[in-house]
Amino acid sequence: MQGEKKFKVKRNVFTPVKIIALCFIFFFSSFIQLDAQHKTKNIFLITLDGFRWEELFTGADSSLMNSESGGVQQKNILKKKFWRQTAKKRREALMPFFWNVLMKNGIVYGNRSLHSDVMVTNKYCVSLPGYAEILSGSAQPEIINNKPKQIQSVTVMEFLKDQLHLAKYKIAVFASWNKFPYVVSKVPGVIYCNAGDTNAVDGKLTGRQRLLNRLQDEAPSPWDGIRLDAFTFYQGMEFLNKHHPRVFYFSFDETDDWAHMGRYDRVLEAAHRIDGYLNLLWKWCQSTAQYRNKTSFILTTDHGRGGSNDDGWKDHGSKIEGSEYIWIAIVGPDTPHLGELSNTKTVYQKDIASTLAKLLGYDFKKVSPTCGAFLSHAFEKRIR
Ligand SMILES: [Zn+2]
Repeated sequence: MQGEKKFKVKRNVFTPVKIIALCFIFFFSSFIQLDAQHKTKNIFLITLDGFRWEELFTGADSSLMNSESGGVQQKNILKKKFWRQTAKKRREALMPFFWNVLMKNGIVYGNRSLHSDVMVTNKYCVSLPGYAEILSGSAQPEIINNKPKQIQSVTVMEFLKDQLHLAKYKIAVFASWNKFPYVVSKVPGVIYCNAGDTNAVDGKLTGRQRLLNRLQDEAPSPWDGIRLDAFTFYQGMEFLNKHHPRVFYFSFDETDDWAHMGRYDRVLEAAHRIDGYLNLLWKWCQSTAQYRNKTSFILTTDHGRGGSNDDGWKDHGSKIEGSEYIWIAIVGPDTPHLGELSNTKTVYQKDIASTLAKLLGYDFKKVSPTCGAFLSHAFEKRIR
């Protein structure tokens, strides 16, 4: 009898009902696991046009602050603001929020002094080919300069709009340069893009939008087709407040424009202002339920520039040495807090699109087989 009883108990462990229940638990726990692996539900891509890795990692350059080439107008004021004895202190003076907050929550590739190189793969090292590479995940053969030409590959913006079934205002681009509509999508107009002097036109305008529209018309920048970054930022913030998009791209331009004009002081001021915008944007995310601890930032630039020895820093292009080196920072709930990376293998501008998609749990290679690989340091070890 006793033996029979034991046998019965053993058989009870594997009743069909229990097996089904166990399968259910396993099935749902695997879902939870997957969800835990992708905490990112919203993405912000942010670019600072032609902002050198040298300034990002070492702050203000004394040779440019003091030489005629730097074109600095008020040296003492600039020095007080941005000159410090060490590179670490200088970069924190230039971009305090980036270094003191963002880099405690993420990673940055590109400090060449620490053997971390990021390169563009397009041969041109100018803006439109750079943005095309960022957004499509590969160098685009038909985009060889800044002349307007519609991109011929599906971009990661179009891919995510499709995968996430995003309505019109749930994915958007706000850019200071008016050429962005050519590179944000293969099919013209499918991604909401407010670029250059475009006014806000997203339904019933708020009072602030009406004022910003008026001011950006009445306070033009010194450059044709480019508005001042302040308008891009505050127009973008108003859009964010209204529509709560899941995928959003801010493209700032003044870090490049002032360099072309030979005003190093204005380059530093522009970078410092953008750092302040990052602070406001991050705080806005952390105070909004949809975004709090569910949002990743990818920050980068479209190209590098020449060195500081002569006038090289003012320009960039295939013939200007150094223009091929850029940097990439990634911050968010899926990214380890490693800060500044060192001794990494070379990574590329074309890797950004895959990384952006991967943070949201999607594989961009499905529609773009030639795109770069996702950046492995951006993810916790378990999903590499
Ligand atoms: Zn430029």
